[in-house]
Amino acid sequence: MENKPRKDGAAPAQTGDSRDGSGAARSAPARAPGRSPKEVRPARRRHFSGRAGGRSARPRRDRVSRVEHVTSREVARAPTIPPVAPDSVRIIPLGGVEEIGRNMTAIEFGGPSGDIIVVDCGFAFSEEETTPGIDYILPNTGYLEKNRDRVRGLVITHGHLDHIGGIPYIIDRIGNPPIYTRRLTSLMIKKRQEEFSHLPQLMMREVEKDESVKLGQTTVRFFAVTHTVPDSMGIIIETQWGDIVLTGDIKLDHDGKEPSDEEKREFGIFKDRKVLALLMDSTNVWQPGWSVPERNVYTTLDEIISKPAKGRIIIGTFASQLERLMRIIHIAEKYGKKIIIDGRSMRTNIEIVREMGVLKHKEGTMVAIENMAQYPPEQLIILATGAQGDEFASLMRIGMKTHKHIRITPSDTIVLSSSVIPGNERAVQKLKDNLSRQGAHIITYHTSDVHASGHGNREEASWIHRQIKPKFFMPMHGYHYMLRVHSDLAVELGVDPKNVVVPDNSSIIEIQGGGQKIVKLPMKAPAEMRVVEGSTVSQLSDVLMRDRKALGQEGFCVVVATVDRRSGKLHKSPDIISRGFVYLRDNKELMDQTRLIIRKSVETSLRNPRAADLDRAREDLAESVARFLLQRTMKRPIVIPVIVSI
Ligand SMILES: [Zn+2]
Repeated sequence: MENKPRKDGAAPAQTGDSRDGSGAARSAPARAPGRSPKEVRPARRRHFSGRAGGRSARPRRDRVSRVEHVTSREVARAPTIPPVAPDSVRIIPLGGVEEIGRNMTAIEFGGPSGDIIVVDCGFAFSEEETTPGIDYILPNTGYLEKNRDRVRGLVITHGHLDHIGGIPYIIDRIGNPPIYTRRLTSLMIKKRQEEFSHLPQLMMREVEKDESVKLGQTTVRFFAVTHTVPDSMGIIIETQWGDIVLTGDIKLDHDGKEPSDEEKREFGIFKDRKVLALLMDSTNVWQPGWSVPERNVYTTLDEIISKPAKGRIIIGTFASQLERLMRIIHIAEKYGKKIIIDGRSMRTNIEIVREMGVLKHKEGTMVAIENMAQYPPEQLIILATGAQGDEFASLMRIGMKTHKHIRITPSDTIVLSSSVIPGNERAVQKLKDNLSRQGAHIITYHTSDVHASGHGNREEASWIHRQIKPKFFMPMHGYHYMLRVHSDLAVELGVDPKNVVVPDNSSIIEIQGGGQKIVKLPMKAPAEMRVVEGSTVSQLSDVLMRDRKALGQEGFCVVVATVDRRSGKLHKSPDIISRGFVYLRDNKELMDQTRLIIRKSVETSLRNPRAADLDRAREDLAESVARFLLQRTMKRPIVIPVIVSI
C-alpha cells in the first residue's frame, strides 16, 4: 500500500485540566499511581461499572500483575501445533490478511529440510481510536521465534513500510536470518536500520529479478512487478509439487485495456511453470475494471507543470510514491523548473535513488528550501509530504501557517497527488479548508487524474490469474471483505472452490498429500497483537487500552484522604486532583459534596481502626466516589483512591 504517514505521537495539550483549589498537589502525588511511597500505596483503581460490588471476588492485584496474568493465561491456552508432514508445505500469514498493513508470511517445509522462508516483515500504523498511544502494530512472530533455527531467510518484496517496517523490531527475534531483496529495497531497509544503531548488522543479500537463490534446500526465484516504488518483485518458492507464488503489492502497467508488452514479457515466465499455489494482493480487486494508469497521472502532471504559472506549484504526495516523485523531477527539468523537497521521509527516499543512480537529474534542479527566495515563484515546484492531513507533516504546517519557510499566496497551485486513506477524511478536509482559505487553487484526484493507486483493479487481477493459472489460491493483503471478493474472482476464473482458502492472521494453512489438497488447520499460530510503543515492543494489553480510552474520554480523579491512625477520623479535608474530568474551579459544589462522600466512606470503613482493612477501605472509597460522580455528571472518570494513615 501507500504508506500511511505516521500521525506523530506528541501528546496533545491538556485541556480542561484543573487542580483542586484546596492545595491537593501539596499532599498527594500529582501523577498516576504506581510509584507512591509505601504508606500512600493506592489500591487497584476501579473504573466504576455501576455494578461493581463483587466483594467476595475482590482481587488483590494491582494493574501490572493483572496484565501479566492475562499474558500467562493466553500462553497456557495455546494449542500444540503438529510438525509439518514430509509430503506437505505449510503457509502461515502472520499479518496483513485482516487489515491493510503488517504483511508477513511464513512458508514451512516438512521432511528433512524443515526450511522456513519468510516473506516480508511489515508493520501497521496504530489507530488512535482503537489503540491509543501505540505507534505501530507488528505481526506476532511467536511461531517463528520458536522455530528460529529453521528460518533460512527473509525475502522482501518491496520497500514500503507495511512490508519492511517491522524488521528492526523483529529480525533478531527470528534469529537474524539473511535478507534477500533487490537493490533499492535493500538501501531503504539499511537507511531505516541506521536509526537503530544498537542492533547487529543486517545480513543483506541483494538479488536481481531473474535470479534464483537457494535458501536451505529450497530454491527461491523472483520476478519484477509494477507497484509505486521501483524494484518491486514477486516471489516464487519452488516445491517438488509446483511453485508457490507470492505477488507482493501489485498492479499492471497498462493502457486501460491491455497490459504493456513489458508486463506480458515478465509474466511470460509462467508459461512453462507449474504453479501449485498463488498468494496475491487483494487491496483493490473489489474495484471494477482497470486502475487509473500511472501514465495518465504523468500526463496530467505534465500538463499542470507545463502551463504558464503565476505562482508556485506545491505537490503533496506520499514519500513512498517514489516512481512518481522521480517522474515529477524529470517533468520539472523539461520545463526548466526547480524542485524543492520538503519532508524528511521524502528527502531520504530521493537521496537513496540518487545515490543508487536510478534518479539522474541536472545539477541545480534541486534547490534547498532556504534558498527559495532567490527564484521567481513560477519557476518553483515544491514536493511536500502530508497530503493525508497528518498533523506535523509539511502541507499541514503550510496550511496552519506554522511552516518555517512557506506561506501560501493566492497565486499558488496545490496538487494533492494522493487519494484519501479511509479514516483521514476529516483531516484532509481541514487541510483543504486551511489551504483554500489562504487563496490557493487546489487540484485533487476527484477532478483530474493526479493520483493512481499502486494496487490493481479486478481486470488486472483477472489477467494476472490467467497468466499464473494456480491450482490453489489464497488471497492476501487486505481486509476480510477484499480477500473474499478476490477468492470469488479466483473461482470465477476456474480455480476449484475447494482449492481456495481465505485466511485470517496466524491461520495455519497446509497443502497436503504431495500437492493434493489445501487445508486450514483447526489451531492457529500465536496471534495476540504485538505493538511498538516508543522503543519497547510488547503484547497489546486490553486492560491498558481500556484504561487509556477511559482516560481519554472521561479523565481521572485522585482522591486523597489523610486519616488519623488511632481515631480513624479524617485528619483534614480530603484532597481531589483531577485531569480531563471536569474543570474543578467551575464545579466547587460538586467537589464539596465529593469531599463529604470521601469522608463518610473512609470513616465508615475505619470505624474500628485496629481491625481496619485498608485495601478494602480504598476499594470502597473508589466505589462510592465513582458512583456519586456517575450519578451527578453521567461520566465515569477513573477514580484512584489514596488513603494516607498518619
Ligand atoms: Zn506497497
